[in-house]
Amino acid sequence: MPTRKLSRDEIRTRLAAFKQDDTPWQDGRTWAYVYDPGDEALDVIKEAYSLFLSENGLDPTAFPSAMRLENEVVALCCQHLRAGPEVVGNFTSGGTESILLAVKTARDHARATRPGITRPNIVAPTTAHAAFHKAGHYLSVDLRTVPVDPRSFRADPALLREAIDDNTILLIGSAVSYAHGVVDPIPALGELALEKGVLLHVDGCMGGFLLPYFRRLGGSFPEFDWTVPGVSSISMDLHKYAFAAKGASVILYRDAELRRHQIYTCADWTGYSVVNPTVQSSKSAGPIAGAWAALHFIGDTGYLELARVMRDATRTLCAGIEAIPGCRILGRPDMNLIAFSCNTASVFHIVDEMKERGWFVQAQLGYGPSPANIHLSVNPKSAPWCEDFLGDLSVCVEQAETLPAPDQALRERALRIDPAAFSAETFFELVAAAGLSGTGLPGRMAGINELMDALPATLREKLLGEYLNQIYRPTSPG
Ligand SMILES: *Cc1c(COP(=O)(O)O)cnc(C)c1O
Repeated sequence: MPTRKLSRDEIRTRLAAFKQDDTPWQDGRTWAYVYDPGDEALDVIKEAYSLFLSENGLDPTAFPSAMRLENEVVALCCQHLRAGPEVVGNFTSGGTESILLAVKTARDHARATRPGITRPNIVAPTTAHAAFHKAGHYLSVDLRTVPVDPRSFRADPALLREAIDDNTILLIGSAVSYAHGVVDPIPALGELALEKGVLLHVDGCMGGFLLPYFRRLGGSFPEFDWTVPGVSSISMDLHKYAFAAKGASVILYRDAELRRHQIYTCADWTGYSVVNPTVQSSKSAGPIAGAWAALHFIGDTGYLELARVMRDATRTLCAGIEAIPGCRILGRPDMNLIAFSCNTASVFHIVDEMKERGWFVQAQLGYGPSPANIHLSVNPKSAPWCEDFLGDLSVCVEQAETLPAPDQALRERALRIDPAAFSAETFFELVAAAGLSGTGLPGRMAGINELMDALPATLREKLLGEYLNQIYRPTSPG
């Protein structure tokens, strides 16, 4: 532990310095990862979060405030998604935790009600978030993925139907999907779930909060909330377009009978009895208070106004992108998430070129009918930048057209790797062949992205896993 203590001022200075290489999101030129309601709301959320920093949500009898805040936030979310009086839910740390819990609940519900199932599976479109794969992996539930419509990128109910068997416990739909920002045909999935006697989870992590505002602004897309028969659970992140501080999501269930399977209790040890509705046990009430503050400070009219700004910006961007020769929007975005590809230049070069001009856009690798593309999550703060963004994008596409195509020899070499034999040595050989140092992040990512794009998913996973295992290493303070 440090032998020389740092003063409060030194701590502040040193911490601020840690951020020097971070993506500068504050100016609205970052199109992923950060959801920004503006400085005033951010200040209010910070204050609320700090007020509850040390209160522990572990024990509602010791801190009834934490439970009260959670129940009020969940009530607002239920109402927002037009729930009946039976719907219940909990506050979680994020979309991944909400999804883990939905899968755990479905698994334990099946154990209780369908004891013949020994090897449960989930049926999901390929556009379902990776968190469902993670949940299946953690909880020993098989995930069966099914292709989506290659033009709309919406789930195909007929193909999902074919994948359901006697061991299926849960069906998945998204509102909206992360990659293409489209709403799956949830009413058709609801009918299918009822007919087959399986549960249906709607992943509203991204769209659950914002879509109702887009609907009020005249948007038309499939219904996805509690008004749809057959829906049994819905996840909805508040740390995305409700603009709460990170660590804020809700998981809702059709009734307390189903939610019972989520709750974990343990009295089988020498200490305090553990009774946890969610994954965490000790937990700061800060994120709950922050979310409560965001909902109350921005309020219904505030959210509607922010939605209008983001909707208009999305329209401007879509029209502008389609007007750039070679660029094409994938699917028809139902909300404010855009994916576009380019057939005259590498999107990975475009991403690098944009970065040099101060824009952060997210590369998405090709998968099935979805070619390699660029993802944009539109923020209210990005709206004033649309014309500048489109101008630079058009220049960057032309610039990228002049840059070298992917290294075919490297691709072929990578494709010959046996995923089962992948080791740290394989990793270092590959990155060296790609002209990279191994663990330092290159300024330009096109080389590594092209390589990744050429690989099948299992090799992508091996490569990334090894990379993380290399970069997370104890670092002496300096
Ligand atoms: C972000 C997201 C998730 C995962 O949420 P985290 O908060 O990152 O854990 C799940 N599903 C969708 C559709 C998302 O956009």
